[in-house]
Parts: sequence; C-alpha cells; structure tokens
Amino acid sequence: MSGFDRIIVVDWSASKVPSPKKPSPDAIWMAVHYAGTTVCTYHRTRHDLIIELCAQIDDALSKGERVLAGSDFPFGYPLGFARAVNGSDDPLALWADLAVRIQDGADNANNRFDVARDLNAMFLGVGPFWGCPAALADADLPAKGSARHGHGMPERRKIEVMIPSAQPCWKLYTTGSVGSQALLGIARLQALRDRYGAALSVSPFQAPDTSIVLAEVYPSLLADDVAALQGADEIKDSAQVRVLADALAGLPSDLLDALLCEGDTQEGWILGVGHETALRAGLNNQPPPLKNDCFALPSGIDWTPVDAALSDLRTRLGPVVGTQSIAVADALDRIVAQDIIAVRAHPPLPNTAVDGYGFAGGRGDGLHRLALVPEQMTAGTRPDVQVPAGQAIRILTGAALPDGVNTVVLQEDVKRNGDSIVFYGPLKDGANTRKAGEDVKTGDVVAQEGRRLTPADLALLSAVGVSKVKVRARLRVGVLSTGDELVAAGASAGPGQIYDANRPMLLSLIARMGHVAVDLGQVRDDRAALSARLDDAAADVDVILTSGGASAGDEDHVSALLNEAGSMALWRIAIKPGRPLALGMWRGKPVFGLPGNPVAAMVCTLVFAAPAFAQMAGGTWRTPMGFDVPSAFEKRKKPGRREYLRARIRDGRVEVFASEGSGRISGLSWAEGLVELPDGALHVKPGDPVRFIPWSGFGV
Ligand code: AMP
Ligand code: MG
Repeated sequence: MSGFDRIIVVDWSASKVPSPKKPSPDAIWMAVHYAGTTVCTYHRTRHDLIIELCAQIDDALSKGERVLAGSDFPFGYPLGFARAVNGSDDPLALWADLAVRIQDGADNANNRFDVARDLNAMFLGVGPFWGCPAALADADLPAKGSARHGHGMPERRKIEVMIPSAQPCWKLYTTGSVGSQALLGIARLQALRDRYGAALSVSPFQAPDTSIVLAEVYPSLLADDVAALQGADEIKDSAQVRVLADALAGLPSDLLDALLCEGDTQEGWILGVGHETALRAGLNNQPPPLKNDCFALPSGIDWTPVDAALSDLRTRLGPVVGTQSIAVADALDRIVAQDIIAVRAHPPLPNTAVDGYGFAGGRGDGLHRLALVPEQMTAGTRPDVQVPAGQAIRILTGAALPDGVNTVVLQEDVKRNGDSIVFYGPLKDGANTRKAGEDVKTGDVVAQEGRRLTPADLALLSAVGVSKVKVRARLRVGVLSTGDELVAAGASAGPGQIYDANRPMLLSLIARMGHVAVDLGQVRDDRAALSARLDDAAADVDVILTSGGASAGDEDHVSALLNEAGSMALWRIAIKPGRPLALGMWRGKPVFGLPGNPVAAMVCTLVFAAPAFAQMAGGTWRTPMGFDVPSAFEKRKKPGRREYLRARIRDGRVEVFASEGSGRISGLSWAEGLVELPDGALHVKPGDPVRFIPWSGFGV
C-alpha cells in the first residue's frame, strides 16, 4: 500500500498563450490517482493547473490524507549553478530566487527569456541558457547552443547523464522546451512551498515525511508501457501521466519512500530512475481489465444449469476496482482490500467485568473479611496502586485490574462496613475478570480481504486501535432501460406505453448491494442511440446493467450490439422466470443484459448480478442465505429449470404469490423473498420443507 492517498502527475507546458480549448497534445495534463481510479484533466494555462492542484491538495489535507505530486521538469541545475547565482548550493534558495524573477500571467504570458538573459549575464563569456527564438536573441541569450562559451557550467546534471534522452535544462525552445518549463514551473511550485509551508517537502532536497511531497518525474521512463496502454482515443500526454500515476500508486509504500530519498540533493533527481521494473510491477497492481472473452458461452450445453452459470461467472470475473485508504468511521459496507490487523489487544489490559471489590486469589467456603485500600479503580484510569495481599480495592466495570488484583467479588454479594468488606465464599480464582487480549490479540486478523464491513466490524476495528482501512473503491454500476414503449416517471404515458418500472428497482437494488448506482436513463429501441449511450456509460462506470432487448428478436438491440462488438454471449440459463441473459463487453466494460420483464429482471439481478458484482467490487462470492420452511402451498414442477417463486412467511409457513405470471409486479411487492425450487422434478405438498430466501439473504 502506498503511503500516499493521492498520487498526482503533471505534464507541464511552457506555452506563452493559453493552449487550445479542445484538449490537445503538448499542453498541460494532470493525472490524479485517488480512491482506486485515475482521472486525467486538461489545463489551458499554468494558472488554471495550479488552482486545480491546490484544490486537490486542500481536499486531501482536509481529510488527513497525503499527496505526492510529480512534475516533469528539472527541479535543479548542474552543480555550481545555484552557487553562481545565489552564493549558496541550496537548490531551494534558487527556487525562491527564480520565483521573484519570473512573471507568469493567468493567460500564460511570461518573461522567461528575459530571466534567462539576466541569469546568463551573471556568467563569464556567454551564459549557459540558449534556444531563444531568433527574433528575441541577442549577445546574452543566443538562439543556438553553439554560440555559448566560457560560462563554466556542466551541460547536464548527473541524472541527465544517466538518461541521454532527457533534455538539458539550458535549452529553452523546441523539443521538450524543458529549460523553459523549469524556469516557469519552479516559480509555480515555489508558490506552493510558500502556501503550504512545513506541510510540504521537495524530494530529494528535503525528507519526504510531510503531508505533501513534490517530486521530479519523467513520463518517458515508461514509454513502452504507455504505448501499450494508450487508449484508442486517448491523447498521448494524457496516457503518459495516467500510466505513471498508476505505476507510482502501485509501488509498495516503503519502496516509494526509499525512492523519494534517492538521488543528488543539490542537483535533484528523477523519481524512480533505475527502478523501472518495480514501476512496471506497480502498474500490474491495478486490477487487470476483464478479458473480452470472459463471457464466452459455457461450452457444450444447450441450457446452462443455474449452478454452472454461477460457477462460470465466479471463475471468470475478478475485481475491477482499485483501492483507497479511508477512516473506519466511513467504512460501513465497504469491501476490505487487505487483511486488517489488530494494532492493540482487546481488552488491552486485564479488567473487571462487574462493579465490585478486587483482590488477589480465589476464596474457599465461608465468610471472608478484607480491609479496603483507600483508592478506587474506575474505567479509563490507571492509578499506580499496589493492593497488598489480604486487602481489597473498590473497582468499577471496565477498570483495569491494579497490581495485586486478579479476582473480583460482585458488589451485590458484599456487605461493606466502612473500610472493610465481608462476603461468603466460594469464589473462583480470577472470577469476574477479563484477561488482556482474551477477545483479540495484537496482530490477529480482525477483518479479511473481501469482507464487506458491518456496523459490528466498525466497533471491532475501533476497539483494536484501527483508524484507517484499505478498502476497494466502490463499484460504479450504470442502470439503463431500453424499449420504445417506456415512459419515465412523471411524463404522461400514451396508449401502448408503460412506465419504466425496472430502473428505480434496479438502481435501488444496486444501492442496497453497497455499490454506486448510476442512472443511465432510458433509451429507445434504436441501435445508434443505444450504442452512443453505451459509449458514454463505458467511460463513466465499471459495469453496465441493462433491462429489455436482451433476447434474439428484431427489437433486441442490446444483444445485437454486443454481438456486433464481438464480445457477446446469450446465456440460455435453465431458470424460471428469466429468459436469456445477454452478457458482453462494451469498450472494456462488462454489460449484463437483463430480460425486460420486471419479475425476471429482479430474479436475474438477485441470482446472477448480485454475486457477480460483489466479486467485481473486490468482495468474496456470496451464496444467497436461505432456510427451509414448511410450505403453505402445493405445487408440481417439471424437471429442467430452477424456479423462483415470489414468497413470504406467515404463521411459520411459506406462502407463494397466487399467480406465477411474470408480468405481475404486484407480486414482487407482495413478496418478502423467493422460494427456490431445485432443478429436478418435484411435488411440493403443504407442510413439506422448501427453501426460502428473504430479500436480505441476497444481500439487498
Ligand atoms: P423485452 O425484454 O424488451 O422484450 O421486454 C419484455 C417485457 O418487459 C415487455 O413486456 C416490456 O414492455 C417489459 N419491459 C421492458 N423494460 C421494462 C421496464 N423498464 N419497466 C417495465 N417493463 C419493462
Ligand atoms: Mg423491449
């Protein structure tokens, strides 16, 4: 786990005018890896970038989080430059000096060539900066590098000697223009130093043990990975910052800490140089994308039994969300991403389970009289008391046992006479006390990876001293209704039209499962419109749940589109109610195409989508929790399909809805769960046990 909650990577630009409105290459791009996902943003000016960067940092600080912010320009100059300019080798004194010299407007207008000219004038001969457009060049700032002489500065920093492709910091114009980016960028970062003070450090000049750490990065370190991972429509600059942010986020925190301390503390260093393999491994810590063929038809079977379909989903789907670190108080219903360990025993010290009087050792039959010491032990205090043998101390529930006490007699069993007590034995040695760690020992696993945290878990984690937990980012599930006949709530319905019942039902089921339910609205039976909506959805959510249009008919566009995308499979599952499930991948995101019929849509969601989504969210696969209840009904069932009946328990028996018609939404609302009848033939008679699964047994 990274010791940083947010990892930011910025690709800077030295442009003197705002970059185009339309996101473009060679402009400013910022990637923020946070809460398991990485979001890239485009910025037209350095001013705009800094506003967004400060917003990120302020948000992080307000949540007690740490931020690592990388920038792709040199943080320092070859050794000797800072001394020549400022009389000191301190690179951060040079930062402060540059910040005074540089003017950089909200519209990107800036004086970098003038500053470079002034700096050059401090050297003998012609100073080290060069690469000024010919029209602006003069004797102090030449257009060509070859015109420089006698300034005495090395051409490259040590790190740039190691990486020949890195541009030297003296070059102000054309390819990379990294020299200009450094002059302008250092001034901007110095403003962050002024703003955040001791909360911010600059690697490797300062120890990286602050809430905010700035570091120099070089996205081309992972050029091959960027090429492999760049999306079809993704601008390269965006892919570069995204991939590097992901790679840094995937590094073990102790390794990242060590890397931030590496390098030359006067010239600066590029974070991660020489550790490309580890960075690449960091990339792989992100959940792998699902394979395009993960929904390939279960082989060789015409009708897939429910259990076979479930076991296929279980083996083919894995977590699709990253991880984040959050406070225990915010962790209800979140999925544990890494076993949680008790940092403190519970109870931490031996203590008393009752109000009473404490002393050493048990007592046999008969009357006992013990003198009282004057102190009293209450919960939360630990006075330094030693209770002498043969004496007792007043002690209240939860108080730690003082030295000399291992047994407590209940106050109700005692008569107190001033400064002594009497009571009858026998009383066992250790009675009415709790041992340190008898509940949980330090180092015990208190919640396993994949567990969805309950209110009781929050109590346990808090009791054992855990304040932050690494959890999965919440799964975002988009819900889309399809069909020409559908009308949204609130609109007037024409003849032949029906209100969209599935969407509110599915959105609330998703929310109950603990995921983020994203309303994707409804779309007509129109292939182009559906395709466009799926495109938008795929960019926003982790998984798409559609209802309607999932069969093989003329108007079944969900299955048709997924089919065209080449990743679709119509799973014919032996289940009633429920027609085929259309499963497929759309732009890398899984699509679950449910039947339109609300009863079938709900049953298929509970039976298939709920466990599949739990697993995609990083949770453990869960089998619905049901129990056997005597039936209040009679039913004959043919072999071949597993059946789910809308049901509820009354007077200790399970009754089923009068009609099995799968269009009857009223039956869903009447029911409090489902009766599950096995695949084979069956004759249920009143009183026979049948399996009842309450809604809560499906986790909703
Ligand atoms: P389909 O799967 O599209 O053939 O739809 C099957 C049945 O479910 C049809 O009677 C549809 O009108 C109905 N249906 C589809 N979507 C919804 C919805 N969102 N709400 C209510 N009924 C629906
Ligand atoms: Mg339809």
